Amino acid sequence: MTSPKDEIPVALRPAPGRVGVGNNQPNVINIRCPYCRHNGSFGGFAGDRHHDITWQQHWGLVTEGKSPGPRSTAAQAGLRCCPNPKCDGLVFVIQSGGALLRSFPSETKEFDPAGIPEEVARCMSEAIECHAQGCYRAAALMVRRALEELCEDRGAKGATLEARIEALSASIVIPKGLIDGAHELRFLGNDAAHIVAKQYKNIGREETDLAIDVALTLLRATYQTVDLIARLKARKGSNPSPA
Ligand SMILES: [Zn+2]
Repeated sequence: MTSPKDEIPVALRPAPGRVGVGNNQPNVINIRCPYCRHNGSFGGFAGDRHHDITWQQHWGLVTEGKSPGPRSTAAQAGLRCCPNPKCDGLVFVIQSGGALLRSFPSETKEFDPAGIPEEVARCMSEAIECHAQGCYRAAALMVRRALEELCEDRGAKGATLEARIEALSASIVIPKGLIDGAHELRFLGNDAAHIVAKQYKNIGREETDLAIDVALTLLRATYQTVDLIARLKARKGSNPSPA
């Protein structure tokens, strides 16, 4: 049986007794605010009491009572604040070797559901939320679901999702290269959405990140660009002709 500690990724926990407060002034972290959704440079708080905690991060399994593995990097964790004065939201960040490992609440991708059918938007929101929480396989399944809903809504037919996306591209304005590139996302090409599909085992942050961006681009091209063109056309009709 696993303890709650076993469920925490090893990269996110300092070895027992090795945490210090050092002289680590909080550095500035560039992230999208999970509250106001603006990109910002999040700083820490001034003063001696607000140092980050620091430790040496040992990579690989850390077994209590045994010496740690040979590889280690300097890690630190602490609070940061949104620079938007209307927000001031607090975020807890964990870094290793100068790179951001995790932030809580997590960064989420920007998504504007305007004009997108409710069910499609709901699937997409869930995919983005799963991605932000590090649940990449769940995110991949929800991206697929969003794309299937999108194709059904637009009447794009085909034997596989890949074929349906191809059919969809005939009715929306989108670069051909983007559709070809989408087929490289293996779990979108295979029609078995079940966990038995081998490729689901290898889905990570990068692949779901790309899949979400492809899906967002398809949604924008299908629902939001068309709406923008209609608004521009309506404006053209209501404007007096130039003299
Ligand atoms: Zn904010």
